[in-house]
Amino acid sequence: MIKIPKSHPRYWSLYYREKIIEGMEKGMTAKAGLIAHGRGEAFDYIIGEKTVEPAERAMRAAVAKLLLAKYPVISVNGNVAALVPEETIELAKALGAKLEINLFYRTEERVKAIAEELRKYDPEVDLLGTNPTKRIPGLEHERGKVDERGIWKADVVVVPLEDGDRTEALVAMGKFVITIDLNPLSRSARMADITIVDNIVRAYPRMTELAREMKDYSREELLGIIKEYDNGKTLNDVLVHIKNRLTLLAGDGVWKRKELEV
Ligand code: ATP
Ligand code: MG
Repeated sequence: MIKIPKSHPRYWSLYYREKIIEGMEKGMTAKAGLIAHGRGEAFDYIIGEKTVEPAERAMRAAVAKLLLAKYPVISVNGNVAALVPEETIELAKALGAKLEINLFYRTEERVKAIAEELRKYDPEVDLLGTNPTKRIPGLEHERGKVDERGIWKADVVVVPLEDGDRTEALVAMGKFVITIDLNPLSRSARMADITIVDNIVRAYPRMTELAREMKDYSREELLGIIKEYDNGKTLNDVLVHIKNRLTLLAGDGVWKRKELEV
């Protein structure tokens, strides 16, 4: 990994860009994953590279749903393994969820590389998806493969940085789908039951924190959080945030103001 000077004003952005490149060099991340990352970066820049209130609200609802789930499963792809391998394991543990390696561009080599990476952080980690025997209806062969003990069986699934077509197919299967996607306009964002419009590098640690805090909540409290939640409103509020931020930035010289740097 090339050394980025910590003093660089875009240090973290460059750091995660290098992580994605490293992910590709390790055989985990697909070339198209680099493009997806770039699209995510662009939306993050516009959002302000921070967790906005609607994302926090979505995370609370997602964690409530996951804590109440009978069989929650978190999907791992090549970008996720490159950016947040350890945080993914932590989140699964905090929620008591299963992990499944599930790829849009599935190859056995890529699955193996991702499994190896995650095992560096926890040699005992239980990873599904290495031998998927089921298929999501409506998706052709490779793209539709899922693990019988994982996504196939799950009632609630977390599919971060996911393609819209696959998100839609999972919803059609009757799964409750939670996604993490910086693009509030993507098909995934629109199709999911809960959409967390935030960078996964911020969202996963925060969700782990929330899971630890909320696991002592009563069933009624958790149900209440889910009942109150409205995903359409969340997506709308993110768009309003973007609109207001851009209006402020476009104002007369206002873009130079310090408070816009968040
Ligand atoms: P869709 O298929 O849902 O319409 P898409 O085709 O534009 O979306 P995909 O490559 O299928 O994009 O999905 C990847 C999604 O992940 C993109 O919407 C991108 O903005 C988002 N993304 C990329 N990196 C991150 C990140 N670090 N955190 C959160 N979201 C991210
Ligand atoms: Mg797509």
